[in-house]
Amino acid sequence: MSIICKCGCENSDNAQFCSVCGQPIEHNSQPIYQQAVPQQPVYSTVNNNVQIQGEQPISILGWIGYFILFGIPIVNIITYIVILCSSKNKTLKNLIIAQIILGVLLVIPVMAAIVVPSFIGYMEKAGALALFF
Ligand SMILES: [Zn+2]
Repeated sequence: MSIICKCGCENSDNAQFCSVCGQPIEHNSQPIYQQAVPQQPVYSTVNNNVQIQGEQPISILGWIGYFILFGIPIVNIITYIVILCSSKNKTLKNLIIAQIILGVLLVIPVMAAIVVPSFIGYMEKAGALALFF
């Protein structure tokens, strides 16, 4: 075991003064220094490793490729299904679920705007024909 001085240098356990900077070593505060200093970098590297393993970052070119695929009708539906089935990337999956929800929200009014008037038109024609017969 060694004592880490405020200057960051290690000293022997029973040292009263730092061998590098000459400051008196505070033995009361040394457990805090010994615990806090080495562990924080360890945590951050662990988090980085988890992020790299769980969610691979998508490159700019990757996003451009995805947006091109998303922009083409039918191909985008296939792309959605392929990504939802194969990808382990939560960010990408969430994006696709959001796109599907938005797509459905947009498709329903469009379909209603096309189907309803044509249905009314068909009914009017049928009604007009009924007048003749
Ligand atoms: Zn020192």
